[in-house]
Amino acid sequence: MAVLVTGGAGYIGSHTAVALHDAGHEVVIVDNFANSSPAAVDAVRALTTEDLAFVEADLLDDDAVRRVFEQHEITGVVHFAAHKAVAESVSEPSRYYRNNVGSLLGVLDAMLEHGVDRLVHSSSCTVYGQPEVLPVSESAPVRAASPYGRTKLVSEQIISDVCAVRPLAAVMLRYFNPVGAHGSGTLGEDPNGIPNNLVPLVMQVAGGSRGKLPVFGDDYDTADGSGVRDYVHVVDLADAHVAALEVLAGGHEGATAVNVGTGSGTSVLELIEAARRVTGKAIPYEVVERRPGDVAKTWAAVDLAHDFLGWRAKRGIEEMMRDHWRWHCENPGGYRR
Ligand code: UDP
Repeated sequence: MAVLVTGGAGYIGSHTAVALHDAGHEVVIVDNFANSSPAAVDAVRALTTEDLAFVEADLLDDDAVRRVFEQHEITGVVHFAAHKAVAESVSEPSRYYRNNVGSLLGVLDAMLEHGVDRLVHSSSCTVYGQPEVLPVSESAPVRAASPYGRTKLVSEQIISDVCAVRPLAAVMLRYFNPVGAHGSGTLGEDPNGIPNNLVPLVMQVAGGSRGKLPVFGDDYDTADGSGVRDYVHVVDLADAHVAALEVLAGGHEGATAVNVGTGSGTSVLELIEAARRVTGKAIPYEVVERRPGDVAKTWAAVDLAHDFLGWRAKRGIEEMMRDHWRWHCENPGGYRR
């Protein structure tokens, strides 16, 4: 009886694999290392058990997916495996749709064939675009602004359609901005090349491997003019997946989208200040043009996460910065030591 974690070598997947193990689940990881490293699987095993099952496979390979379900007694799936770079999705939309939607379809078909009826799906607050009302609730209009966001939107719609007619129940977690790292310092975010996201860049600037942080605009309609996001600690986020599986095991039916955030926003400048306090390092920055496609501000309504999943974020921005910094200092080259 095991939980299949697709994309379990990735940033959120690896932390979730550990959280599932800690909660008493057996775990099977599938990953094709498209944007992750075998060393992440080693790190998960070191924190859990050397026996943790791992299969290197591409989810677009139907036979390989079927074999995973034949060789392991899977009771539920947590589906992370997907491409996630917004800018790349703009220049290569068909690759994004093929991978993100095709992988999901392969997983869904295999689940239905093998009578597996519990799915926790990795979605994103990007499905909301710029919300009109804050905090943004799950009933807000969805209007993703990038091909990446639309792959997440289409995926949610596919899951809802399948849940309506087949014996399948799903929780679709709409992540806000995951940051931080496992408290051991052995598991964390390992972006390929120059990071796109704020916190890995802030850590590189604090660590001295990058000169200056570009701040994308200080003229937004926010208290200090910089963009505001709802940063959520990746370990809290991992726990939300465990909670979602428990709700599904309790007999929940249908497909339900749930925000996963802290419920409060932090601006870019506030985050830089928190990182400066925690690291004790100067973080030089330069305000540059707004980044095309960025929303000014967004943070989550978290009532549903609490009422439906019984989950609430426990860790604040300082703990996020502290844990991310520890991971960064102990693994300056990420998993490529
Ligand atoms: N940001 C920034 N400089 C960077 C990267 C990001 O000022 O080099 C800002 C960005 O404009 C946004 C926030 O940091 O307001 C979070 O950006 P990130 O790319 O991490 O997440 P997302 O845009 O997906 O919310």
